[in-house]
Parts: sequence; C-alpha cells; structure tokens
Amino acid sequence: MPELPEVESVRRQLEPALRGRRVVAVWADAQRRFHAPHRLLGHTVQGVGRRGKFLLCPLDGGLELVLHLGMTGVLHFGAADAYTRARLGLDDGRELVFRDVRRFGSLAVVDAGAYGPLPSLARLGPEPLSDDFDPGRFARDLAATRAPVKPYLLTQRPVAGVGNIYADEALWLARIHPASRRVGPRRARALHAAIRRVLAEAIAREGTTFRDYRMVNGESGRNATFLVAYGQAGRPCPRCGTPLRKVALGGRGTTFCPTCQRR
Ligand SMILES: [Zn+2]
Repeated sequence: MPELPEVESVRRQLEPALRGRRVVAVWADAQRRFHAPHRLLGHTVQGVGRRGKFLLCPLDGGLELVLHLGMTGVLHFGAADAYTRARLGLDDGRELVFRDVRRFGSLAVVDAGAYGPLPSLARLGPEPLSDDFDPGRFARDLAATRAPVKPYLLTQRPVAGVGNIYADEALWLARIHPASRRVGPRRARALHAAIRRVLAEAIAREGTTFRDYRMVNGESGRNATFLVAYGQAGRPCPRCGTPLRKVALGGRGTTFCPTCQRR
C-alpha cells in the first residue's frame, strides 16, 4: 500500500503535468469513495501538494481535489483498462487515468480545506518531514497513549503518512519493540529521528514497490531492496544476527527483532 514516500514520488511527477491544466472532461465510476468528481469540470489545477498519504490539488474557484491511492491506486497518462475508476481530460489533450484494482482509493472535490467528507484527512497528525513534527510533542503523545506503539503510529494521529512498511523500519532502527506501551522521552526522540530518516531515504529512492505501486511514468520505486525489517521475517537481524520474527499486531503483519528491539 502506498505510504508517504510513494505518494510523494507520485506527487513530484504529477505536479508538472497537472499544474495550470484545465479539466475539460470527467468520467468517473459511481463509487462510495468518490465524492462529487464532476465538480472538477472547467476548473484549473493550481498545483499538487500532499498531506500524509493524501494528494491535495487546489483548483481555481475555491475548490480542492483530494486523491488517496488506497491500496492499489495508480495515476498515469496511459490507456484506460478494466480497472480504470476515473479519467480526467485535460486542456492539453492528455488524459489522467486513475486505475485502482482493489477500489480502496478515493477521489473527492470539496470546497478548499472543507474536509468533512474526508474525516481521516481532517484528523491527520503532523507532517513528519516538516517542523510541525515536534519531538517534544511526539514524546508527550506516546506517553499519553495506552495503545502499543506500532498500532498507534498507524492511526496517523501522532504523525502522518507512516504505514506498515515504514513503521516496521523505523521501530527496528530505533530498537523499539512494536508492541511496547512504554516509550519514554529518550526512545521517543530516537523514534522521531528514525521515522524521518526512513521516510527521507525512501523518498530519495522513489518509494517501495512490491506489486502495485508505480509512479506516474509507470516506473517502480527502488527502496524494496533496502528494507531491513518489513518483509524480512526469518532473515538475521542486520544488527545482532537473531532471526527476525513476524507476528500479527493490531491485525497487521509486523516484523521485528526479538533481541534488540526492547519493550
Ligand atoms: Zn537484532
């Protein structure tokens, strides 16, 4: 599933293709996760931004297009197929295609900043690579929750954009057991730094592709071969040599080192 580095890599390719383009045709599937797509018609895209895993495109006329890739969503300018859920015709003759096999992606056109139809966007925590992600506040949030640390990260409340892959990676780097309920200030600071590091490195490699994730130009990200924890169960921990273990935690597969990640 695309997380922050994948969505940011998409954003970087989408922005030059969409900025300044007017939407001259809209076709969209009738889907529960699509909200008012036809409001796009006739409006000009002023840019492509991102918050967590959401793409935010301000439009003229005080509107905003919000896209979420869900589990399998891909945006491209190629041909439509059976998994195409929406197509946007642009005034330069190109057509942006939203392809989504599993249909967990969303497309909404709202009044700018009015995220009522998108509660998970409205409740999003701070952006991890910005100054808003404050280590002191992060430590206080971790101290205040009763939830195990990894499921808590996945709520997107303490920090935006971290999903299953980068939570496993960051917790391994910070030597914190994913089920820990006691992350004190020192370890919170280590986790804060680890989250920033794994996300920044993954962005530099244009994200992690296992199966579905592709950038707008159809290419895969290069981060998959650099993962040290996620998907590596049974392999020796690169730090201590103990075989990494996979468990279910909060309903999600979770890989960690039982020796050097401490509760
Ligand atoms: Zn280890």
